[in-house]
Amino acid sequence: MDEAGSRRAATADEVDRAAWRAWEAFDAAPPVDARARALDLAADGLDAHPTLVGTVCEETAYAAPRVRTELIRTSNQLRAFAALIREGSWVEATIDHGDPARTPTPKPDLRRMLLPLGPVGVFGASNFPLAYGVAGGDTSGALAAGCPVIVKEHSAQPRTGEAIAAVVEDACARAGLPPGFFVYLPASGERAIEVGLELVRHPRVRAVGFTGSVQGGMSLARAASERPEPIPVYAEMGSVNPVFVLPGAARSRGAAIGAMLGASATASGGQMCTCPGLIFVTPQADAVVEALRGVFASAGLVTMLTPRTASLFAERLADVQQAGGARVVARGGEGGEGGEGDAARAGTPTLLEAGLDAFLNEPTLREECFGPSTIVVRCEHERDFARGVGVLPGSLTGSVFADDAEWSGARGLVGALRERVGRLIFNGVPTGVEVVPAMNHTGPFPACNRPDTTAVGAYSIRRWCRPVCFQNAPAGLLPEELRDGNPRGIWRLVDGARVRG
Ligand code: NAP
Repeated sequence: MDEAGSRRAATADEVDRAAWRAWEAFDAAPPVDARARALDLAADGLDAHPTLVGTVCEETAYAAPRVRTELIRTSNQLRAFAALIREGSWVEATIDHGDPARTPTPKPDLRRMLLPLGPVGVFGASNFPLAYGVAGGDTSGALAAGCPVIVKEHSAQPRTGEAIAAVVEDACARAGLPPGFFVYLPASGERAIEVGLELVRHPRVRAVGFTGSVQGGMSLARAASERPEPIPVYAEMGSVNPVFVLPGAARSRGAAIGAMLGASATASGGQMCTCPGLIFVTPQADAVVEALRGVFASAGLVTMLTPRTASLFAERLADVQQAGGARVVARGGEGGEGGEGDAARAGTPTLLEAGLDAFLNEPTLREECFGPSTIVVRCEHERDFARGVGVLPGSLTGSVFADDAEWSGARGLVGALRERVGRLIFNGVPTGVEVVPAMNHTGPFPACNRPDTTAVGAYSIRRWCRPVCFQNAPAGLLPEELRDGNPRGIWRLVDGARVRG
């Protein structure tokens, strides 16, 4: 902080130097073992950090147990990428040996693998300051792939950012990575937005990972596409995560489903990208709605991430009500535990209800309302669910609650929903993202501008690479993964067969 108490942002020169240093570090091509060691050391450093959890709690107003859980996820992500690159087969090494004697034309020797793109700019989201932050999924995947990372600070969490950056810088240095392989750019105050744009526009930056608002993500994607050499921006943005409760499930266990959904919609103050924002029900779902009302009515005021998050939430709620057709059916804020101290950051948990016609006619009911709220959409019959799905924006997840006997009749609903989401959930809530290779965390726009790549799990490493094919290359010029003899003993596709040799 400077004397006036305002924080610093990198100058244009510092952004430029960071990108050039990152480029030099990329050119040095540090080996797999060094990258894996840096990831492991960073994980250990985060786990052992004496004050990080407290700092995150102060900057986010999250409770310590929630932050500790996110910290475990974050260090496990780092370790998982270290293990992935040590194992090696993620590069998809594929060899088709040549046949100079083939007639009528000789067959060339072709060898293909994934190679890192180059320096990557990373923008984290305020609601997951660890798992999607400075050492979050984008950073760990890019470092693992061999891409230097330049992180732009989130202006709402500068102390968290600096603490994590110090851990990663130390880990990279101890692992022997070249200086510049990881750089943290302070970005608070008046130049907060400019620093990010300069990073995205820098000619040595080759890709961008973004998690945050639709407006922010699309603005950066536009800037990247207007460069003389456009680059990919992987922008994970807003999601409404629709839920459908079939009548049988609503009758047999409506109260339990409603309680689960209420807890999911208000988890972390409703500030999760996977919170259920729309819940479609039939007339049999009174118990579901009653339980939801109970959760919302008894929830305390939420201290939201920032005053801006709170004011945007209040504006969105007002828009939804002014659009017509939606009414408030439960409001929290009294007698709860949250919201102490900071009126500018207070958010009121709010449950709304709308009929299907209003939902179909009012686009504003279908946009993310980031905060502790959800809209119950009342349908006359489960057949009407398909009409709701027809106008849904893209989402990270879609959930269906049904009894066993109802699944065969739900085939059409599930098929239609599959077109709008990245993860289908059966009899479960959308919050809770397991970090394993089978996880898919993306979805059609606006959940993401690149629904072909996941932000979470082992496959996210593919974002930071591109395939390169070597034709008739001298053995000495091939990356070791493509040489005969397979020095690293990794799985490869050789002449059509998946082998380790
Ligand atoms: P945000 O306001 O968009 O901020 C994210 C980052 O982008 C910050 O560093 C911010 O800079 C920067 N930024 C925002 N607008 C920009 C612009 N026009 N030009 C350049 N940089 C810009 O998002 P947030 O409030 O931190 O995060 C909440 C949002 O993230 C929610 O919508 C949530 O759904 C979404 N989210 C999505 C996922 C997912 O996986 N799909 C996961 C988590 C969160 P400043 O520091 O200056 O603000």
